Amino acid sequence: MNLTPAYITEMRPQDILMPVPAGLCCKPGGFYIDPVRPVERAVITHGHSDHARPGHGAVLATQETLDMMRLRYGDHFAGTTQAITYGEQIKLGDVTIRFHPAGHVLGSAQIAASCKDTCIVASGDYKDAPDPTCAPFELVPCDVFITEATFGLPVFRHGNAADEIRKLLASVALFPERAHLVGAYSLGKAQRVIALIRKAGYDAPIYLHGAMEKITHYYESRGVALGDLRLVKGMKKADLAGTITLAPPSATSDIWTRRFPDPVTAFASGWMRVRARARQRGVELPLVISDHADWDGLTATIDATGAGEVWVTHGQEDGLVHWCTARGLTARPLDLVGYGDEDEGEAVPLGEDIEA
Ligand SMILES: [Zn+2]
Repeated sequence: MNLTPAYITEMRPQDILMPVPAGLCCKPGGFYIDPVRPVERAVITHGHSDHARPGHGAVLATQETLDMMRLRYGDHFAGTTQAITYGEQIKLGDVTIRFHPAGHVLGSAQIAASCKDTCIVASGDYKDAPDPTCAPFELVPCDVFITEATFGLPVFRHGNAADEIRKLLASVALFPERAHLVGAYSLGKAQRVIALIRKAGYDAPIYLHGAMEKITHYYESRGVALGDLRLVKGMKKADLAGTITLAPPSATSDIWTRRFPDPVTAFASGWMRVRARARQRGVELPLVISDHADWDGLTATIDATGAGEVWVTHGQEDGLVHWCTARGLTARPLDLVGYGDEDEGEAVPLGEDIEA
């Protein structure tokens, strides 16, 4: 017979992780997950700029996430850094944390925080769809699952990314005199699109906007094969006919596009499921390719974790909270501020719009 009183073995989840203005605070562990303000100790899920910010005292993250922060912010982005690998376990205060692949971008992780008998998984951004540029999403059984909700409405079903790439390549074959400009977020999406194009058998050079050069080479240095890549800069307009160029989404609608012959504008994003969004942005060839789970992915993942309690953050919280509640799960929105969807937010760094 177990005589240990319940209050000793069980903690309320909110005693382990608590949403505060700086982010998700873990008091018994003395750290924050993906803090939006400078803190003493940060544990970071992945390299996108809304999750990985500079100025923290100590940062614990995967090597790839630390490298991406270094690339963006320079060597002194944090007081100290510590790299952790997938599956590795580290004790911080009274809390044990372990990193698991999130399938979102290279190096992205879900963070499992366990204290006493309670395990909370903060998934960061994640997707359960295949991606040749990063480790696949790993299902982690837990008591409380913290899920994103970027595409947390039933209307969002991403379909198969390979079919979208076939659409792009069919268009390239159909219009050999035109250039194809594919808007794709610089960290993760661009490299995934390139890898998918290669997988589809296209082996001609693929051109890059200058803002993508560093991060794309970083992916290659981590063993992600992307084939023959070249910079647009210095190319003659006529020589770009029949080619594919990847550029940050904002660059595909500005003066930078004048260097291309009669460009076909594409955009790779989960938002391209919404036709009005594509039209609004002047996108001729919408490609529904997302690095976030769609509605089916979110709900299947929540189910499979076995969590009895679900915390929903950044995106369409209400729909997902309602779905959970209808299934008898305890669910609540976290109302964290400061996280966005990378496809909607990327601006080209100053000075790179014309020359890159
Ligand atoms: Zn992200």
